[in-house]
Amino acid sequence: MINVAILGATGSIGSSTLDVISRQAQRFRAFALTANKNVDRLYQQCQQFLPEIAVMVDVTSANELQQRLKESASTRHIQVLSGVKALDEVAEHEQVDYVMAAIVGAAGLNSSLAAAQAGKRILLANKESLVMSGDLFLQTVRENGATLLPIDSEHNAIFQSMPAKLADAAAKNAQADILQSSGVEKILLTASGGPFLHKTLEQLHHVTPDQACAHPTWEMGRKISVDSATMMNKGLEVIEASWLFNATADDIQVVIHPQSIIHSMVSYSDGSVLAQLGNPDMRTPIAHAMAWPERMESGVAPLDIFQAAHLDFEAPDFSRFVCLKLAYDALRAGGTAPAILNAANEIAVDFFLREKISFTRISSVVEHTLNQLEHQKAETLEIIIAADAQARQLAVNFCEQ
Ligand code: NAD
Ligand code: MG
Repeated sequence: MINVAILGATGSIGSSTLDVISRQAQRFRAFALTANKNVDRLYQQCQQFLPEIAVMVDVTSANELQQRLKESASTRHIQVLSGVKALDEVAEHEQVDYVMAAIVGAAGLNSSLAAAQAGKRILLANKESLVMSGDLFLQTVRENGATLLPIDSEHNAIFQSMPAKLADAAAKNAQADILQSSGVEKILLTASGGPFLHKTLEQLHHVTPDQACAHPTWEMGRKISVDSATMMNKGLEVIEASWLFNATADDIQVVIHPQSIIHSMVSYSDGSVLAQLGNPDMRTPIAHAMAWPERMESGVAPLDIFQAAHLDFEAPDFSRFVCLKLAYDALRAGGTAPAILNAANEIAVDFFLREKISFTRISSVVEHTLNQLEHQKAETLEIIIAADAQARQLAVNFCEQ
């Protein structure tokens, strides 16, 4: 039996992971479930999956969960923990084999790192942690014999489109020049383009949070949905891919593909392009990473290639999707620049979701923060966390002006 800790169990990725586990109950067990403060959802999940440990970061929510679990004989044994440190505790728990890192935002950084330190198989959905601390993260994976498998659908597709030996090296972060030695010319990172693909700048100015969260092909949490609409999500993914596959900004080409059937491609020096296709459902990359290097059933319907029929591609427009350009800039700048970009974006998205700033303001906040802050070498966690905090403060001030 493989014990899985799901960090961010109540979210979109967390729920999809539990759905996959429910179909593979003879092989996988939900050993620990964590959430921020959604008591109802975590309680329901505890009833269904009977984990050993349940974590609620919020103390009041943890107390309420504990009360409710005590009411029934089947759930009474579940240990309830609270506070941020408890996330690290389950990530490094000796009985845990796999850690699904599916907390949203910088809040997922410490627990993802704790899983790497403990040498776990990390199923990484929380791209923000890699964006913030790429170098340090990969070093931690390498030094502790951890395995890092991408859950982000594009990165999972790239991983699947690489030769098995090189994918293996990428998972262990063992090989320095994965791309060059395998004849890879370019990574073609696909993007749906989000709900506003063909809107003018003037129209973009007036879009609402609910419109931004109504993604045409994927169902996701609100933060990543807004990121998809601004294309900051793709920008974060360019940075994520650069770390996972040891690629430069020039090695990664973003390709708009509105149908989200091809999840990314790898172009080789002999003219071959390998792609991974499937219905847009996160249970595919989740099941892939859980079963790797084998395959298992995920619950995803087979792709009806005749119904898909048309696959369109176009180049991204950096003048309307400024966030994508800013992410490329931050990747090229290196050091703490990606952490600053990520922090400013989290603040700007939060202000936008609370209808305090307009949609087009999000990129202004990120650009302003990047310009104001001197970036440094991201050598230690302390430096990264300090840059994150400074960027948040600046971005809040800018939003409030
Ligand atoms: P979500 O908002 O649906 O869920 C977030 C989860 O994190 C919840 O369980 C919540 O309780 C927990 N959480 C939130 N704030 C927290 C905090 N401060 N401390 C501890 N836990 C906290 O988000 P999601 O859409 O599932 O995305 C999760 C991560 O996966 C993000 O990094 C996102 O970029 C990435 N991702 C998501 C998708 C997708 O299809 N949803 C695809 C690719 C990557
Ligand atoms: Mg993605």
